[in-house]
Amino acid sequence: MDDRYISLLEKTADYAKGYISKRSAMPPFPGKSALEGLEKLGEDLPECSCNPEDVLEKLCGIGGSAVAEYGSGRYFGFVSGGLLPVAHAAAWLADTWNQNAALYAMSPVAAKLEDLCEKWVAELLGLEKGTAMGLVSGSANALICALAAARNALLKKQGYDLPENGLRNAPLIRVVMGEDAHSTVSSALSVLGIGKAEVELVPTDEYGRIQAELVPELDSRTLLILQAGNVTGGSFDPFQTLCDKARDAGAWVHIDGAFGLWAAASEKYRHLTAGIEKADSWSLDAHKTLNAGYDCGIVLCRHQEAFASALQASGSYIQYTENRDGMRYTTEMSRRARSIVLWAVLEQLGREGVAGLVEQLCENTAYFAEELAKKGIPPLTPACFNQFMVKTGTPEKTAEMLKYIQGSGVCWCSGGSWKGEPVIRVSVCSVQTTKKDIDRSVAVFSEAFAKVNEKGN
Ligand SMILES: *Cc1c(COP(=O)(O)O)cnc(C)c1O
Repeated sequence: MDDRYISLLEKTADYAKGYISKRSAMPPFPGKSALEGLEKLGEDLPECSCNPEDVLEKLCGIGGSAVAEYGSGRYFGFVSGGLLPVAHAAAWLADTWNQNAALYAMSPVAAKLEDLCEKWVAELLGLEKGTAMGLVSGSANALICALAAARNALLKKQGYDLPENGLRNAPLIRVVMGEDAHSTVSSALSVLGIGKAEVELVPTDEYGRIQAELVPELDSRTLLILQAGNVTGGSFDPFQTLCDKARDAGAWVHIDGAFGLWAAASEKYRHLTAGIEKADSWSLDAHKTLNAGYDCGIVLCRHQEAFASALQASGSYIQYTENRDGMRYTTEMSRRARSIVLWAVLEQLGREGVAGLVEQLCENTAYFAEELAKKGIPPLTPACFNQFMVKTGTPEKTAEMLKYIQGSGVCWCSGGSWKGEPVIRVSVCSVQTTKKDIDRSVAVFSEAFAKVNEKGN
């Protein structure tokens, strides 16, 4: 049994080696035939068992051709992080150990590493000592955790115990956020029983930043949600002014900084996040800017008690100890041990390496935008952090240009909309991207631009 198990893993390692050596030559997005090939996976649940070797062969053969290649260096869609070798290797170990990170008693090693990550992430972001951290699947879930803590704490200040009495009879709390908040913020609010109509939306400027002077009067019933890194243009809200204002008013500030909060780790880009340390809670991802692989979301909260009491489950068989019990800070109980990978990445990079990674992504982004500008395709707003957007002539031409890029087999971007018009988004989020990858991609953008503009339509 063990021999066969080991041989299966060896075969998988061989496959991984082959994959890694080829990936920079792969198209960033599978072509038509590879996508059609997915049909070969079949429809029906197999009646009988088969060999694990056959399963892996099928998966590699059919599935392996239809992978989106974040590791090609030329995938610029959404905000998709690449994968550091140490993260990949540590994830293999984590899978080998198959740890459940719910409680210390279920995985002492995961708990210890999570403790270290909590301290290190807070330090990298310049947050107060003692900031509590939960590891979740991504920012979407991190937002639910943080905003639940915020909601309950704001209600508690009004003398209302939400976990005991429920939302139906609760006094009102206010939610204030910018028009360009990420869609997952609204989803999180909805899960928490707060509807769109209840939110006070503040107009944003041409970069997508909340306009500080248009923020309504804040008070101690208010949850103010700010953003570090707009998902389209990359911009950062004015934290300094708004966090001060919120503190004076006794409001709770949450910062959604899925990829942008990592700016705080670099001396060169820290000015973008100035003031974030005065917020109450934060959400970010290790699978974006940090290139720690999927999935790893991080939720942080200054108020450990409020955080744990909003999320903590109890039951006769759950024994919290004086050691770290990670499930206190998430909506989940059983969880993969994300701390193993996160710790490995931080241990390897160190403070200098994290800063270097952030700077590499930002410099590549600036280079990409400059080269495009030279070809007559300037970014709509100056590139910020690792993001920018472009468009051309009319909405139809922009859509056509995006289609050309996506079909090029050289680079891949996703679309978006900016102030009501379609744009092409460029996110340089992978450690694997090189200047050469960017040069090849710029050539494709340039071809696409010429092609859609030559027709005179
Ligand atoms: C990506 C992103 C999210 C959602 O994060 P997931 O990790 O995909 O759950 C939320 N907010 C911002 C600003 C993002 O960029």
